[in-house]
Amino acid sequence: MSLADITARVEAAVSAAGRSPGCVTLIAVSKVQPDARVQEVLHEGHRVFGENRVQEAAGKWPAFRETFQGVDLHLIGPLQSNKVRQAFDLFQTIHSVDRPKLANAIARIADEVGHCPDLFLQVNTGEEDQKAGIPPAGADNFIAECRALNLPVKGLMCIPPVDEEPSLHFALLAKIAARNDLAGLSMGMSSDFESAIAQGATHIRVGSAIFGDRDYS
Ligand SMILES: *Cc1c(COP(=O)(O)O)cnc(C)c1O
Repeated sequence: MSLADITARVEAAVSAAGRSPGCVTLIAVSKVQPDARVQEVLHEGHRVFGENRVQEAAGKWPAFRETFQGVDLHLIGPLQSNKVRQAFDLFQTIHSVDRPKLANAIARIADEVGHCPDLFLQVNTGEEDQKAGIPPAGADNFIAECRALNLPVKGLMCIPPVDEEPSLHFALLAKIAARNDLAGLSMGMSSDFESAIAQGATHIRVGSAIFGDRDYS
């Protein structure tokens, strides 16, 4: 599918859900994709991208930014505390704040440099051992902890288990966000973004549906 196809599907889902046009940010997930494909999407005018590794983003986005103005880059994958400073230089938003140690590191660097990316806190809605994120039962506390650190918490993020109905996880994330007065919901990927939009997603993270399958070989 092309960027235009996906944009049309996003707006159709927004309208079907009775939500306002433009209320969902499409993050084009460019991890592992060939530079030429990413440049095509940049040439089409898209500016919001997601990467899941700091190192990979550092290797390609500074050069893209020299050619294309106004790139808005989102970190959607795990962040180690010792890479926070580098992440601040690259990303406008971090979607993977998933533990107190990382929140503290972010607060410390933010104080030092005088700015902080927008933050989403990752919730492990499926309580999967191999997945990052705060368990749902700990989310309220973690949100309060981050707020006490004066962090700019915009919302919550989740990645549902592959073998479960994603809408149940989207609904759970939306419920936790609502009771904590958080407006942002980062949820929905290539296979389920329409369902996420129906459940209130404000940010969807779509990779392969825009760029094609990732080639890890
Ligand atoms: C890779 C990735 C995506 C995009 O996945 P697609 O299925 O290609 O749309 C979304 N979110 C996260 C956290 C990812 O790592």
